[in-house]
Amino acid sequence: MADSLTIALSKGRILEDTLPLLAQAGIEPTDDPDRSRKLVLDTTDPVVKLVILRATDVPTYVEYGAADVGVAGKDVLLEHGGEGLYEPLDLGIARCRMMVAGFPGANAGRGKVRVATKFVNIARRYFAEQGRQVETVKLYGSMELAPIAGLSDLIVDLVDTGNTLRANGLEPLEHIADISSRLIVNKAAMKMKHRRIKAFTERLSDAVGGRAA
Ligand code: AMP
Repeated sequence: MADSLTIALSKGRILEDTLPLLAQAGIEPTDDPDRSRKLVLDTTDPVVKLVILRATDVPTYVEYGAADVGVAGKDVLLEHGGEGLYEPLDLGIARCRMMVAGFPGANAGRGKVRVATKFVNIARRYFAEQGRQVETVKLYGSMELAPIAGLSDLIVDLVDTGNTLRANGLEPLEHIADISSRLIVNKAAMKMKHRRIKAFTERLSDAVGGRAA
């Protein structure tokens, strides 16, 4: 249906911070997403549905058109590659920084270092751009443990307050990118449902007090 709109969101920080913006744009889920086990939620707008996914699956659903639009962290988008997606609006939520971290003074540059991270593509690109030779090790969580356990010299991770690093004797060493959540749009849907998506983007843009690109 040319008028329908499927919005992909992930549970946790992004869902919590996006729901108030959607509410301001006139879209509210009819079930409580925290309590409901449903993965497809109806909303107060009869043509709008929310699908609740793992954060790393949001760009995939939008890229393949299984969802028309979605909200994804810039970290997830940089790691995914972002082909086949428009990124028209910075929602300014879930802000943090992508950093290289390690023990104080544990900087790369002297020979080959090992970097543990969930973000192997981001890490490889960052170090390659600097001409630094690194070996990346893929982890799925608790990156801070890697230098402590002797698995790696450095980590690449998201840092907000820096408390997690500090609590483990580590510190942020190099800034890779500023991160926030972005509205992403399927390229075909942008053409086929242009009016619907443009109106939705503008309403969200008003809600964040920003401006759609
Ligand atoms: P902090 O201790 O405040 O620096 O937070 C760092 C921890 O929270 C790390 O485990 C990060 O992976 C995670 N984190 C911080 N900010 C975000 C964010 N915006 N999105 C997802 N994870 C985050």
